Amino acid sequence: MYENEDPAPARYDLLVVGSANADLVIGVDRRPAPGETVLGTDLVVHPGGKGANQAVAAGRLGARTALLARVGDDAHGRLLLESQRAAGVDTGGVLVGGAPTGVALITVDPSGDNSIVVSPGANGRLTPADIRAAAPLFDAARVVSVQLEIPLDTVAETARVLAPGTRLVLNPSPPAPLPEDVLTACDPLVLNEHEARYLLGILGETAGSAPEDWARALLTHGPRSVVVTLGGEGALVADSRGDGAPVRVPSPKVDAVDTTGAGDAFTAALAWRLGLGDELAEAAAFAVRVGAAAVTRQGAQASFPTAEEVVAL
Ligand code: ADP
Repeated sequence: MYENEDPAPARYDLLVVGSANADLVIGVDRRPAPGETVLGTDLVVHPGGKGANQAVAAGRLGARTALLARVGDDAHGRLLLESQRAAGVDTGGVLVGGAPTGVALITVDPSGDNSIVVSPGANGRLTPADIRAAAPLFDAARVVSVQLEIPLDTVAETARVLAPGTRLVLNPSPPAPLPEDVLTACDPLVLNEHEARYLLGILGETAGSAPEDWARALLTHGPRSVVVTLGGEGALVADSRGDGAPVRVPSPKVDAVDTTGAGDAFTAALAWRLGLGDELAEAAAFAVRVGAAAVTRQGAQASFPTAEEVVAL
């Protein structure tokens, strides 16, 4: 179990602090040139955003999950709240109003390439004061998970308000420079190859081409543990509590259909299992199965598995 565990049993296995977006998807034969209009397919609207995705992934696995996010007082906000509730997520911490719900306008061409415009909307209005006002949620969670689709000072406040013994899982996506106190609060920092290379560059590291080198280099900058996700290869974990030696966690082989949201499913599963007391490698071994299950189906939230489906994989 995690040291310093609160004597009162935690009400939530996982509190996710992050973004909630409506993904508006239209298929096109080709993208419009400046000043041009093209016709596309019928609009499809999916609930998305990294925070909302992680919360749904955890809820569907059976984790007692709460979401702290901000949506607009509009139809997209209601869609997002509904998808959370359907996955069993406690939405009492979702703030409503202040700006329209965040949206991602996505056009997909026949080759499957996406062009995306994101309007952060209400996500950009989730403030440090909102984090402080949510103290009861923080006190009731074993693990807090956060990503970077909300303002960086809100992420920094999240790292600051953690109760002793509460674990912070951070996925630096989209990649941005992280303040030192945020980096040192991560346990673990969870990132894909692209995010790892970006962060190492910002930190002035010239680590080699092996993910093992990246994990070792990242550990020297303060996080207590690091997890690098490696797509179909699974993940790599490094924990400073032991000897810090990176350990590979292979993924089951599956036929990948759509990898959208796989990283969110992986991170949510990892965070949940860490809160239940798993060692890092053990939690990652479960999370790669969740990630693998998620890529076998289309969509993000729609692809996330139940615990039974993970066992059956
Ligand atoms: P992201 O989705 O953030 O870009 P990755 O591509 O590393 O990150 O994927 C995250 C996790 O999703 C991986 O660690 C793995 O568990 C799972 N995953 C992604 N692609 C595949 C795949 N082709 N086969 C099996 N699992 C996959």
